[in-house]
Amino acid sequence: MDSILDKRHRPLRDLRISVTDRCNFRCTYCMPAEIFGPDYPFLNKEELLSFEEIEQLATLFAKDLGVVKIRITGGEPLLRKDLPILIEKLSNIPGIEDIAMTTNGTLLPVYADKLKKAGLQRVTISLDSLNPDRFKQMNGRNISIQKVFDGIEAAKKAGLAIKINMVVQKGVNDQDVLPMAAYFKKAGHVLRFIEFMDVGNTNKWNLEHVMTKKEIIGLIDSTFPIKPEPPQYPGEVANRFFYQDGSGEIGIISSVSDAFCGTCNRARLSARGELFTCLFASSGFDLKRVIRSTKDNEEIKNILKELWSNRDDQYSAEREQKKDQKKVEMSYIGG
Ligand code: SAM
Ligand code: SF4
Ligand code: SF4
Repeated sequence: MDSILDKRHRPLRDLRISVTDRCNFRCTYCMPAEIFGPDYPFLNKEELLSFEEIEQLATLFAKDLGVVKIRITGGEPLLRKDLPILIEKLSNIPGIEDIAMTTNGTLLPVYADKLKKAGLQRVTISLDSLNPDRFKQMNGRNISIQKVFDGIEAAKKAGLAIKINMVVQKGVNDQDVLPMAAYFKKAGHVLRFIEFMDVGNTNKWNLEHVMTKKEIIGLIDSTFPIKPEPPQYPGEVANRFFYQDGSGEIGIISSVSDAFCGTCNRARLSARGELFTCLFASSGFDLKRVIRSTKDNEEIKNILKELWSNRDDQYSAEREQKKDQKKVEMSYIGG
């Protein structure tokens, strides 16, 4: 199938699907508790895309737009009831080669086996600190780090491939970079450091709190020498580095200090069924309205093609000019 290219000649390969806007955490950089409080108007069931609607859209994206990878995200995706049923539907779609999920890990002891059996191949588990008190403070809900360790263990037992994501904020958890590297080097899981990003409008982002790729590399290399590795495929989000002693790999996602918009092949389907062609977009296109008003897949396919071919986004490359625009919250569209 010929790829549909956007205005910057980028194909679409990766569809990220947010299955819920709810979360059992209140990470300070994503869903600060003072904003996402008890009265916050989370989406109700009718507002969410159903599993059948997600399957319908994912099938069209795979068949007609060239999507080969799906990542399930949220909010916390494991809060969506019966998620393994959706995974099974998605893993049966012709053309989808890889299904992964990003999760805070706390519900993996309940679901890891079922997810693996349903066809999930990989999980990325988010963990920002090994310090029990700092972890409790950062997740905003006083949740014990042991819950995440139990989740990692359950994923391992189920046979899921595991990566760990750490968002690094200067003055908050930068002292955890080296302990995290040491721990996951030994445990044998790829650790990916994410620069603190200005997603949404509520996380009080400030450039001074960003620990840059260069700073992270310098710190790790001074203790555990590393060497850069080329990307495994075009559009890979993380820059990869191998430990020189052969003990494994780390990744760095440098959306702020070293934008990678030029190869961005990702689209995001929000929990309420809008399509976003950039993580930092102000608005999305209401696909739910379309699929609830027509059964004609040809018409839907043409809309998807038009949306992608008109895409011009490159927020990170233009951050300075665009930083004051209104942006969608991360919990609606996931990472
Ligand atoms: N709840 C799941 C989790 O935390 O893994 C999935 C959704 S979460 C929005 C997806 C990823 O985005 C997580 O790895 C999280 O750490 C990351 N993230 C959230 N807010 C961020 C920010 N402001 N800057 C960088 N990464 C962020
Ligand atoms: Fe929840 Fe994930 Fe956001 Fe943390 S990063 S508040 S776990 S959605
Ligand atoms: Fe892709 Fe937008 Fe991120 Fe650039 S800023 S890499 S276009 S999601």
